[in-house]
Amino acid sequence: MAKSAADQTRTGRRLVGLLGGTFDPIHYGHLRMAEQLADTLKLDEIRFIPSANPPHRQSPQTSAADRCEMVRLAIAGNPRFVLDDRELLRAGASYTIDTLLSLRAELGNNTALCLIMGSDAFIEFDSWHRWDVIPELCHLLLVERPNVQMSEALRPALQSLLRERYTDQPAELAEKTAGRIMIQRITALDISATAIREDFRTQRSPRYLLPDSVVDFIQGHQLYR
Ligand code: ATP
Repeated sequence: MAKSAADQTRTGRRLVGLLGGTFDPIHYGHLRMAEQLADTLKLDEIRFIPSANPPHRQSPQTSAADRCEMVRLAIAGNPRFVLDDRELLRAGASYTIDTLLSLRAELGNNTALCLIMGSDAFIEFDSWHRWDVIPELCHLLLVERPNVQMSEALRPALQSLLRERYTDQPAELAEKTAGRIMIQRITALDISATAIREDFRTQRSPRYLLPDSVVDFIQGHQLYR
């Protein structure tokens, strides 16, 4: 007897999207991107992974615990969204490779992991700690943001990585647990955490750029003053 679509989903490989970031604070740009990717690529789950000590940028002013709590509030009620606080439990720099190794140990070798990164971040990918091992552990989902012409700016090592691993077939993400690179266009919302922090600092209203529950948390805890 033919399997129903639901049966195939149940028996198929789980696809888990991984969205790391400082989330200082989380906003609708992050949430819409995650929702759209989950829909388009049929991801079973998206894990939001706040970075405790990001190696590539200045340490956030806001504590990791507060940034985590804001993510928890923002994703409440979305059954596909999960808060993953493993980087807060590790000392030292929050390297993606360590996070992937720990996720693999937890989720096993049959889950397809899809690391979501902005195309702006991919331009610097070959400076990440043990970057060449990362595609052995996960797929890369590169999200095009406006005004970044990725292919023109890529260094040769990244150009060959892209050439070897690129696919435009979403189905290939479920065929293997790691190793593919996809480029996804999303309907970009021009929202940035930097601009939101500035709104709070200068007492302008940030409403409708991020969930009200997060606005209330920020005001209650007097963040971004
Ligand atoms: P900041 O302004 O402090 O740099 P940010 O929101 O750009 O904040 P992160 O919180 O670290 O930075 O972002 C996490 C991930 O979300 C990154 O991959 C980033 O490229 C992506 N991202 C951030 N804002 C948007 C947006 N408006 N649309 C799509 N992706 C976004």
